[in-house]
Amino acid sequence: MNPEIPKELLIATFNRGKVIEIETLLSELPLKPRDLSEFTTIELIAETGTSFEENAILKAEGYAAQTRLWTLADDSGLEVEALGGAPGILSARYAGEDASDSERNRKLLYELAKAGDVARRARFVCAIALSDPSAKTSHLSLGTCEGTISYEMRGRHGFGYDSVFIPDGYEQTFGELPSEIKERISHRAHALRSARTFLEKHFRPPCLT
Ligand code: IMP
Repeated sequence: MNPEIPKELLIATFNRGKVIEIETLLSELPLKPRDLSEFTTIELIAETGTSFEENAILKAEGYAAQTRLWTLADDSGLEVEALGGAPGILSARYAGEDASDSERNRKLLYELAKAGDVARRARFVCAIALSDPSAKTSHLSLGTCEGTISYEMRGRHGFGYDSVFIPDGYEQTFGELPSEIKERISHRAHALRSARTFLEKHFRPPCLT
């Protein structure tokens, strides 16, 4: 087999923001990323798990079973201490199924204002599952990023709750910070580092092993 030919990896998400971040973080690996938008008849996998890890495994195995590709799935969200860990695994649906990122952020700021003068500690969490083409999970990793919630939306970078999340050690939100900083310190970056080590072993051309 020609070691120059990259193997394919399905990035199992419809979220463009996640695809861009994951592709950037894996860009040095010799593999060809595919994403779900290429599979127009694919059946959606419901996120019925009770944890980020369970949902990542459900998606990785469910999409690998349909495509017969190595598949990487991310399940992630925001946990806010003063809201008892909400929105948590429901982060994508926090303001209803069809709400926009800014509607979700407005709801979060409103709920925190209602909670009164509380600490605004929060963390992003990301679980990454890797499934082989036979739909068996081969690797699972978890990453977190600690921070606080701002008092208003700030910045246009990133996606989701980035414009209200101030990572520890910074004064700006992820929406304001350059993307290179998020690429280094985010929950997704931490979870992907471990997945990447696994992929490096699996996908490294035979001549380098
Ligand atoms: P899911 O993993 O598809 O269930 O959706 C996760 C949701 O959590 C996203 O739709 C975002 O609202 C939020 N989220 C996850 N990761 C990030 C991030 O890196 N920045 C901002 N919001 C995020």
